[in-house]
Amino acid sequence: MDDQTKCVHLTGDWEREFHSLVPPVHRGSTVVFPTVDAYQRRRESFYDGYSYGLYGTPTSRALEAQIAALDSGSRALVVPSGLAAIALTTLSCTRSGDRVLLPDNIYDPVRTFAQTFLEPFGVEVAYYDPLIGRGIVDLVEDNVRLIWVESPGSVTMEVQDVPGIVEAAHARGIMVAADNTWATPLRFKPLAYGVDFSVTAISKYFAGHSDVLMGAISVRDEGLYRRLRDVSRVLGYGVSPEDCSLVLRGIETLSVRLDRAETSALILARWLEQQPEVLEVLHPAFASHPGHEHWRRDFSGSSGLFSVILRPTARPRLASVIEALEFFSIGASWGGTKSIVAVIDPAPLRTVAAPDDRGPIVRFSLGLESIDDLKRDLENAFRLFAADKPHEVLPPLRHRA
Ligand SMILES: *Cc1c(COP(=O)(O)O)cnc(C)c1O
Repeated sequence: MDDQTKCVHLTGDWEREFHSLVPPVHRGSTVVFPTVDAYQRRRESFYDGYSYGLYGTPTSRALEAQIAALDSGSRALVVPSGLAAIALTTLSCTRSGDRVLLPDNIYDPVRTFAQTFLEPFGVEVAYYDPLIGRGIVDLVEDNVRLIWVESPGSVTMEVQDVPGIVEAAHARGIMVAADNTWATPLRFKPLAYGVDFSVTAISKYFAGHSDVLMGAISVRDEGLYRRLRDVSRVLGYGVSPEDCSLVLRGIETLSVRLDRAETSALILARWLEQQPEVLEVLHPAFASHPGHEHWRRDFSGSSGLFSVILRPTARPRLASVIEALEFFSIGASWGGTKSIVAVIDPAPLRTVAAPDDRGPIVRFSLGLESIDDLKRDLENAFRLFAADKPHEVLPPLRHRA
């Protein structure tokens, strides 16, 4: 064999007897077959086996099996982002003339998808009050094909009556899809409550380290799974095996990360509730919170994301208070190891009801820093709100004993 050939052809039995604790990263675009017959029948392997790297690798299949198991589904599929998962789910069960119902507090980019994509293609979109519950029956006209729920909504945190909506929808043969990113299947399992599609932005808690973009859809029905795969194929969706490997690693610590984020969020939410600048804490575990009774009934816990509504009088100093935070970076994409804060002012767009304009909304995502550091950080920053106490310059926490 010439060197040029040796450069491109592997020799040796190097894969034998290496049993690792972790699933290997299988890179590959082309998949090769032992016989012409196997090659010509490769499409039979589309839904389960391997026919082309874009349609699945052992690494992506390992991740999908893991996600399906956590969701108590029979099947899952991973796609390039959470938004891609929402778009794929919607496109897989609607056509021109159909109508989709979206909760008024839905993840904001979905509105843009509806407006710039669904509506021009003839799919009608209507928004509903997320707290409508069984009252959704009044909105299910004959052409409604799909109802989305997002519970809790990722800014204003209303918790929906998911089983109530599912019952009303299924009575009319309408499918229900849930964006379960806030809870993850460790805190709420939509499929167990009759939801047809459980969607998670893997970019958040599953990946968990702010370095991967991915989404997942879990289902119990083989027909729905195949339909999702078919639409995913024509859209050319695929995920990299390296990213799948990072998510597989992330999932191993998901439960401890969520426990920590949950505890820190509850401690800080209770502290924030005492602050004079805070009008209301938006956290599903708070008894006064809209939909709290559904959270108690259906969820096994909470996560690290919550919001507060500040008094309008906080506005002039808000930016300097937020910028004074040492351990909370300003950003949108939550669910990582590092704490994040986002100022949402004006309040998010609403169609059914007027936006809640009682004051600026600040959303916190708690990471894995020490709760003492995070609390001191907030205490220091919030001191800047007190107008009569002009800027007390404290040394950064990191440099203090
Ligand atoms: C982030 C997010 C998404 C979208 O996920 P990407 O991977 O960023 O596209 C969808 N829904 C919710 C609730 C989110 O927070």
